[in-house]
Amino acid sequence: MLSSSSPSRPFIIPVFLPHAGCPHQCVFCNQKVITHATDSLPSNLEIISFIHAWLKYRTPGRSSVQIAFFGGNFLGIELPEIIRFLSIARQFVLDGSVDSIRFSTRPDTITPSHLELLAGFPVSTIEIGAQSMNDTVLELCQRGHTVLDTIQAVHLVQDSGYTVGMQMMTGLPGSDTGVDISSGLRIADLHPDFVRIYPTVVLDHSLLARWYRAGRYTPMPLSESVSLVKQLYLIFHEARISVIRMGLQVSTDMGSAAMILAGPLHPAFGHLVMAEIYRDKALETLKRHHECGDRIWLGVHPRRISVMRGLKNENIRYLSEQLCSTHITVEAWPQLSEHQIAWRLVSDIRQAEGYCDVFE
Ligand code: SF4
Repeated sequence: MLSSSSPSRPFIIPVFLPHAGCPHQCVFCNQKVITHATDSLPSNLEIISFIHAWLKYRTPGRSSVQIAFFGGNFLGIELPEIIRFLSIARQFVLDGSVDSIRFSTRPDTITPSHLELLAGFPVSTIEIGAQSMNDTVLELCQRGHTVLDTIQAVHLVQDSGYTVGMQMMTGLPGSDTGVDISSGLRIADLHPDFVRIYPTVVLDHSLLARWYRAGRYTPMPLSESVSLVKQLYLIFHEARISVIRMGLQVSTDMGSAAMILAGPLHPAFGHLVMAEIYRDKALETLKRHHECGDRIWLGVHPRRISVMRGLKNENIRYLSEQLCSTHITVEAWPQLSEHQIAWRLVSDIRQAEGYCDVFE
């Protein structure tokens, strides 16, 4: 789910290194559940065949191809192993099949010496797992780093010229809507190139799972979480920061109740957020012009029909109730931009129409 300011997405080859380099397990985490992987680090042969297999699925129209080391704390891995992984990836860059390398890592592993090491490899993007910009929340989550570590890490990476991504989580222990919004604002102030927003879910075999079972932690309900992530999306959009993901990616197995115990998990989380943004804008605009009983036409770009209607027509139901109209039609208007909504109100005695921009 990209914001309007984002460039076209790279084709990413995700090499998962679950828990590799993690000093311990953060309370909410269990990367083995997320990636279905085991403890041992993959061999050279395994990585090379994996990358070759993914390269066959490269989709046209992507700006570049990147090998991504995800799922652990990349710069926390033993130095010879970091060099082994980067060297394998570099071979693909040298032979022209891949453009660059990216990885995710904890803020406290970003040091001048690590950055010096990276300079010898074609790394373009570093994703920093900030999770929260509140020290109390970080402590409760047993992250083992502070907000100051995150700020310093972002500056170091930016000063070295890398593309910087930041990952944040919502609904963590000790957090609430206000704390998460203020985390979002602090992240926006750091001007990363992109962010990912992950609402906290309770993964089995995590410490959070024990807290949840003991009644010490209650996850945020889905509707509240969608509304919170919507506010964060708007903050980042306003700051011209791309939001490249909202919600945990659901694989078939992750949907199993045995692995996800509770929390705001939804296969189309990002869609729910965008639908609320379009719904709010339509309501705000129509309220200024409409009279009870008007028939309402909304026009949006063909690619925005589903977010305007909402999942299972939820937006239509909501607008119908709020605007006391039993007739709401959503039509595809290809001449509009993806962020415009055209509207027309008709009654037996009058007609009004106009346009609005969803993000104005
Ligand atoms: S959240 Fe990141 S640093 Fe913490 S245990 Fe999971 S992979 Fe490791």
